[in-house]
Amino acid sequence: MFYRGDVAYYDVTGRVAEPYVPMKLFFSDTQLAHQPTQYMVHGRIVDPFENPNRATTLIDSLQACGLERAEPNDFGRAPILKVHADHYVAFLEEAYARFMELPSHGPEVLPNVHPYRGASPADADRGAPRVTGIIGRAGWYMGDLSCATMEGTFRAAYASAQTAIAGAEEVLAGAQGAFSLCRPPGHHAYADRCSGFCYLNNAAIAAEVLRRKFARVAIIDFDTHHGDGTQAIFYARADVLYGSVHTDPSAYYPHFAGYADEAGTGAGCGANLNLPLPWGADDAAFIAANARLAQAVTAHGSEALVLSAGWDAHRDDPLSKLAVSTDAYTRIGELYGRLGLPTLIAQEGGYSLTAIAAASRAFVGAFQAAHSMRA
Ligand SMILES: [Zn+2]
Repeated sequence: MFYRGDVAYYDVTGRVAEPYVPMKLFFSDTQLAHQPTQYMVHGRIVDPFENPNRATTLIDSLQACGLERAEPNDFGRAPILKVHADHYVAFLEEAYARFMELPSHGPEVLPNVHPYRGASPADADRGAPRVTGIIGRAGWYMGDLSCATMEGTFRAAYASAQTAIAGAEEVLAGAQGAFSLCRPPGHHAYADRCSGFCYLNNAAIAAEVLRRKFARVAIIDFDTHHGDGTQAIFYARADVLYGSVHTDPSAYYPHFAGYADEAGTGAGCGANLNLPLPWGADDAAFIAANARLAQAVTAHGSEALVLSAGWDAHRDDPLSKLAVSTDAYTRIGELYGRLGLPTLIAQEGGYSLTAIAAASRAFVGAFQAAHSMRA
């Protein structure tokens, strides 16, 4: 059965009931090649939360609610280099091989020095560093200890970006919705820096692809972490709105960005909207913040939407400090579906396999149903 309003959109078999916006699910098995063994948390090296099981869980969950899996084409490097500095991409590609030339090296590239330097808010990147050695270069380009880089990392990150591009191309070709199962994720990747499990900023790359047709594009990010990389990339731009609801960064990753007074700079002034939530915030606060973001999309005049979709605000997520339930994802799926815009959903975080399966399915089902009624 199919209902609107307070009732779920699934029938008893778990499939989305008609009518709905058909959506492809883009993913390449190459994205599984990134499987590092190290991640620093609270002073301890542990197994990374961001692992290939997340992707396989999401594929099963989203196929079960009617999405059709599609292999992304290779659209080449040009769309990636529209967002990322070429010297940074070159670093990602060469880092593992160069690090392996060090005496007594570990299994993966990890930095142990960092420069006292960031890009200015109006600059996309800092330029190439003068340092030529791999240790200094790792410190320049790697923002933290959550981006261990192994043999397959660049291949997987490149494929993840191609998955985002393929979804954006699908939308350019006329699809009303597409799901890009980007893994590794992207929203903490800056134009010239990896951090927070992110190497290439998939949502930003997709937004630039959409800009070829749509004059104004919005990226809305409901991952529980602020998308500091995405914010920085578009901070001085008016044509791409960045809006985010996330956990208050004053004692939470990414710590140094995501505050409510960060509103953009220059031409981009007013095109950046941060809605931090306090620890313990519940469904009502999360849904209200997402409603404000949806209003901002309309006010911006965005003609297409990229959703940075993370499921880690869910109360069952090991990283969550919020009290968001699966039902909230149904509600915000309706909110964004009702906008009626051509939409690319780009996967970001979410680390409880049970929660990501439930939340993604609730969100996508509600999004498709609400979008169909709007269309
Ligand atoms: Zn996250």
